[in-house]
Amino acid sequence: MAIIASNFKTNHTRKSTASFIKEVDEFIVSNKIESEVIVFPTATSFDFIKTQSNLKIGAQNAYPIENGSFTGEIGTQQLDEFNIRTILIGHSERRHILNESQATIAKKYEFYKALGYKIIYCVGEPLEVKQSGLEKTLEYVYSQFDGIDINYENLILAYEPVWAIGTGVTATNDDIEAVHGAIKKRINKPLLYGGSVKVDNVREICSIESVDGALIGTASWVADDFKQILENT
Ligand code: PEP
Repeated sequence: MAIIASNFKTNHTRKSTASFIKEVDEFIVSNKIESEVIVFPTATSFDFIKTQSNLKIGAQNAYPIENGSFTGEIGTQQLDEFNIRTILIGHSERRHILNESQATIAKKYEFYKALGYKIIYCVGEPLEVKQSGLEKTLEYVYSQFDGIDINYENLILAYEPVWAIGTGVTATNDDIEAVHGAIKKRINKPLLYGGSVKVDNVREICSIESVDGALIGTASWVADDFKQILENT
């Protein structure tokens, strides 16, 4: 059974999120979709999501705190109101655009792990590292596990090469196999691929043995496209 996740990033309104979720939720039932489906909308839409029962809603980010003086952040006091028990940690946009350090990421991980959240933990190398070869890529990716308890039972991993995210450039099957195979040897957890997955490549990518599903941004934002992606996995 594949795990298919949609990351809205900073897209969609409360209204469009609600209709997306309703449509996808109904589609999962009517088409007997067996994949585990997780959607990460913006936090401002959480109160508009009342309809879903066949998919999980996750937080794209949260601070490792219940509540307090952390301007611009949300904590578990806010997540609990919407029964959110799934969180994305280590996404490349948080690492490379918002400058989250490995230490900050590990602190978040530890906090949400202690509360039993399902964690989708992302790793992936930038272009210059990829260009220096597989060994350097793996070294870089492994360093993104510093401070992370890889034996956590509610852990799902996502390998998302930075150069493939939102660029339309998907890693080749050989690239995916090489990195996934190596990660899988070290860490026995579900491993998703992310990086320009779309309707016409999702089936092939998910058929790679070491790929347990996909984390999808751009191609998942239109409900009809996401439904086709679900049909193809
Ligand atoms: C992502 O944001 O995790 C992602 C993989 O984005 P995209 O599908 O647009 O590359």
